[in-house]
Amino acid sequence: MDVLIVGAGPTGMMLAHELALAGVSFELVDRLARRSELSKAGGVQSRTQEALDQRGLLEPLLATGNHPVTTAHFAGNLLPLAGERHRLPWRSVPQVVVEEFLEKHLAGQGVQVRRNHELVALDGTTATFADGSVLRSRYVVAADGGRSTVRKLLGADFPGRAGTATSIAADVRLSAEVPMHTTNDGYQAHVFPLGVDPAGRPLKRLALRAPGSVAREVPVTEEEIRTGLRRVFSDRVELLELLYGRRITNASRQAARYRHGDVFLAGDAAHVHLPLGAQGMNTGIQDAVNLGWKLAAAVHGWAPDGLLDTYHAERHPVGAAVLRNTRAQSLLMDWEGTGSPDVAAARSLFEELVQLRAVQYHLDDTLSGMGIRYAMPGSHPLVGLPAPAVAPSLLHSGRGVLLDPARRFDALHLSRVDRVPSGREPMLIRPDGYVAWAGDEAELAPALARWFGEPLA
Ligand SMILES: Cc1cc2nc3c(=O)[nH]c(=O)nc-3n(C[C@H](O)[C@H](O)[C@H](O)COP(=O)(O)OP(=O)(O)OC[C@H]3O[C@@H](n4cnc5c(N)ncnc54)[C@H](O)[C@@H]3O)c2cc1C
Repeated sequence: MDVLIVGAGPTGMMLAHELALAGVSFELVDRLARRSELSKAGGVQSRTQEALDQRGLLEPLLATGNHPVTTAHFAGNLLPLAGERHRLPWRSVPQVVVEEFLEKHLAGQGVQVRRNHELVALDGTTATFADGSVLRSRYVVAADGGRSTVRKLLGADFPGRAGTATSIAADVRLSAEVPMHTTNDGYQAHVFPLGVDPAGRPLKRLALRAPGSVAREVPVTEEEIRTGLRRVFSDRVELLELLYGRRITNASRQAARYRHGDVFLAGDAAHVHLPLGAQGMNTGIQDAVNLGWKLAAAVHGWAPDGLLDTYHAERHPVGAAVLRNTRAQSLLMDWEGTGSPDVAAARSLFEELVQLRAVQYHLDDTLSGMGIRYAMPGSHPLVGLPAPAVAPSLLHSGRGVLLDPARRFDALHLSRVDRVPSGREPMLIRPDGYVAWAGDEAELAPALARWFGEPLA
């Protein structure tokens, strides 16, 4: 077996999809007997949708239900840009829906998650499970979440900050619309749109902070939420229905290295942060899309030197940027409940700044994933960016694409790169949809060698 994927959350399942597409043999294991039904991340950002679209997965995902276009927020300030800047605007698609969709899609390809399979030991790439069974593989990918067993067994450095405060996160129906961010009497309520329930009624994700910090394990009660709402909003709003409630922390940590020899960390196993804006799920899915084709190249024996190392080089800065923005949001929302007038002043100044179009665009670039630019060699300004205006179907195969409108270039990497006589200008696109070359023809051969190895004889 080539690859063992530990953890069948959104990261592990997306990676499984990528490896299946590339014809790599793998096992996808999870300790749970069945998929988690916890309500977690609430939306799919633009860049993740592009990645899914490039594999033909977006249309069927969106066909699973009513997933309205929604508006991102930064620290509880709406960015009123929905639908305005990106071909695929932010949509409300709950994580449970994404996971169910991916698992069914994998099953349709003959891939079953091996459930009740808890990894308990790892020696190199030999994994031992709680039932005593052993799996050997060339590579292991830890997609086993924020408390990753693999990361702990590796002794991987996971610097950052432990959680300092808990808040309630609850999926609710409320009797009235309320502002996104309200504080009163030491209590805070952040209320974000979360799409609609099956009956078409608007749902909200409520983050509620009371003075003091209750331990994470203590169950959330309806009464606690009613009290909190009363303290913040008086009688302006009532709880109509509590669908789900739990406590979240503001822990913020990132693995120092995403690669440990033949073991890779991805998704929450590599980065944890305050769950704001579904960034954990989206970043994990994109980690998987970045890593999948590189692992496949290594398995198939054509990976150029250093290709696997580019996974850390490209994705660590993306994770670091997510930690930076969630920490900044935590401060502006006074997540620790300090009540500091300095925090209130910073928030009020920020509320002025966020009225500026340029600020909205900048934050939207961050939260949509569309501002990601990988540090890739090449002089053309498009290199390192998601390919613009390219038909997503060109990437369904999971191979690279050389747009060659005038049919000028030799097809020397044909099994790894599809040469397509279309596009406005010649461009080389990696399997994950990022531009690897454009412009100066002298840079094409080095770019092909860098990303797709030696030309075929
Ligand atoms: C309770 C909770 C609430 C959240 N709420 C939000 C939210 O409101 N907004 C938001 O943006 N994000 C939220 N998140 C974060 C978001 O859900 C994660 O970023 C996302 O799930 C990351 O996906 P992942 O696949 O990397 O990890 P996970 O989804 O955590 O999946 C890891 C998988 O690995 C399996 N596993 C773990 N250990 C082992 C082992 N030893 N052997 C085998 N399998 C193992 C687990 O069973 C699990 O299925 C929340 C997370 C949690 C846990």
